[in-house]
Amino acid sequence: MAPRVMELKSTIATVGSHSALQILKGAKDEGFRTIAICVKEHSSLYRHFNVADRIIEISSYKEFENVEDDLMEEAAILVPHASLIAYVGTDVVERIKVPYYGNRRILAWESDRNKQREWLRRAGVNIPKVYENPDEIDSLCIVKFHGAKGGQGYFLAKNKEDFYDKIGDAREYFIQEYVVGTPVYIHYFYSVMRGELELMGFDRRYESNVDGITRIPAIHQEGLSVTYTIVGNLPLVLRESLLPEVFKIGQRVVETSREICSPGIYGPFCLETVVTPDLKFYVFEISARIVAGTNVFMNGSPYTYLKHGKPMSTGRRIAVEIREAIEQDRLKEILG
Ligand code: AMP
Ligand code: AMP
Repeated sequence: MAPRVMELKSTIATVGSHSALQILKGAKDEGFRTIAICVKEHSSLYRHFNVADRIIEISSYKEFENVEDDLMEEAAILVPHASLIAYVGTDVVERIKVPYYGNRRILAWESDRNKQREWLRRAGVNIPKVYENPDEIDSLCIVKFHGAKGGQGYFLAKNKEDFYDKIGDAREYFIQEYVVGTPVYIHYFYSVMRGELELMGFDRRYESNVDGITRIPAIHQEGLSVTYTIVGNLPLVLRESLLPEVFKIGQRVVETSREICSPGIYGPFCLETVVTPDLKFYVFEISARIVAGTNVFMNGSPYTYLKHGKPMSTGRRIAVEIREAIEQDRLKEILG
């Protein structure tokens, strides 16, 4: 095919962290000019891998809004990820004028755990029980804190006494039934241009210290507290017979999102699940944008290979979608 991508004038920009290597590399592969907005300590990484045509250095994420005019002049499209949300903040993200890939209004549904639960409940997927009051805890539960902090500070509690022993001064927490099974993080991509839900891959997380605790004998485990600080991710493939259910769940989540927050969710998103021994998927969280677990498939996953027949990361898939929207003069439909 002729390299029509070379004719593209558009620029894709993202914050230099999280999944930026993948996003920028994918954008370059599709012929876009690329910009990484980095705090100073991170810029050498993006220089080293040569994924950014331009690096805009900021001294802290608080300065992010100052680069807005620069990005507008470059006609850049901003691709969001967790670092943008976690460090720049949803309030800034909601008000910036730079064209943004995705439905920004879905952020409010994602960041509020009660709204998230409402979304998943309406989608008819299995969700873990939630304890509104610590005194009601009657099974093993996981206590979470606000924000996309990658599991930092979470703890397990087996009853209310255990909870009060561990909670300390924290006032804002979320208590969820701990579902015992295997964690499976499902990466999806809903394409507005093609009107289709794609399966991009699966990962599982590698977390400290929970993934270390199982490496020592039980006798030494006693008394240690389990934490879930994300360190990295591992690729996963699923039993093929589970894939139809994976599509069904993803489809329902997309359809419900249109009812709650039109035009709904599109682009990459992730359902964080635990699969129980009876092969039921319990969805304990939803990420309404690219997740870092997709970094394990920078060169494509088995499923994207099947679908696209060439290396297709989620980052590159985003760029393909934007390119098709530009070519079809439908950019408005994917910028929210
Ligand atoms: P970072 O840019 O690595 O500091 O991450 C930004 C946010 O995304 C933090 O809240 C992290 O906890 C979260 N995050 C980063 N990497 C991952 C990952 N591999 N899996 C899940 N969450 C992550
Ligand atoms: P999160 O930051 O919500 O993705 O969760 C961090 C860690 O806790 C991951 O290892 C998850 O597998 C685990 N986890 C979170 N919620 C649950 C749950 N309801 N049941 C079992 N494991 C969970």
